[in-house]
Amino acid sequence: MRLVLVGPPGAGKGTQAQYIAAQFAIPKISTGDIFRANVSEGTELGMTAKKYMDAGDLVPDEVTSAMVRERLKEDDAADGFLLDGFPRTVPQAETLDEILGDLGQGLDVVLELVVDDEEVIRRLSGRRTCRNCGHIWHVDFDPPSREGICDDCGGQLFQRDDDKSDTVRHRLEVYAEQTAPLIAFYAEKGVLVGIDATGPVDDVTERAIAALRPFA
Ligand code: ADP
Ligand code: AMP
Repeated sequence: MRLVLVGPPGAGKGTQAQYIAAQFAIPKISTGDIFRANVSEGTELGMTAKKYMDAGDLVPDEVTSAMVRERLKEDDAADGFLLDGFPRTVPQAETLDEILGDLGQGLDVVLELVVDDEEVIRRLSGRRTCRNCGHIWHVDFDPPSREGICDDCGGQLFQRDDDKSDTVRHRLEVYAEQTAPLIAFYAEKGVLVGIDATGPVDDVTERAIAALRPFA
């Protein structure tokens, strides 16, 4: 299955991606994770991306699309993938079509996680991520059994710099202006499926898997 997840920051894309990718045995490709790994390693790409990420802005399309083009050429993506956080603009979506066309592939489905702004702000303000394995937690909604420690691997949890409140509001504006137009773009192509992404994480996973099964 070739799948894209869309939805505002905090909708639960990364959380659901963990379970969906495992269920359908496809690699999860998160552009945010790739940028963050480059920032921690201090690569040139990381240094370029960091200033945009800290401001809550999008990294320029050419930089992001070139990175995804390379990633999708890797062997593990040959028979399917889940893209989390890409595309985020209509030009990125057009580039994705081109990249897949060059590889003789096409998208099967775009899953939209539907959540309102207030819920998203509550989710982002309590998000914690494992420094070691990347598992996503929430201090209230999905807490690990020991505060600050990942249940999966024992790693330390951290709060993302861009989850501090001013940046969150700006990221939601950026989503509304630059990313939300993708919903109409993919609806017109007939590949969009939307699910209600509110309620417990497990319930959302069940809804997502049920919506995606016909495309597997
Ligand atoms: P995104 O990748 O879309 O930005 P995340 O998957 O990182 O969003 O989720 C944002 C925060 O919301 C995380 O702290 C996560 O634990 C929490 N979260 C995810 N799904 C739910 C849910 N169904 N209910 C409550 N909190 C959730
Ligand atoms: P995420 O982890 O998906 O919330 O992404 C974190 C940050 O990485 C975003 O706020 C952007 O600055 C950057 N980023 C991730 N994916 C993209 C993308 N497809 N296009 C541009 N910037 C991106």
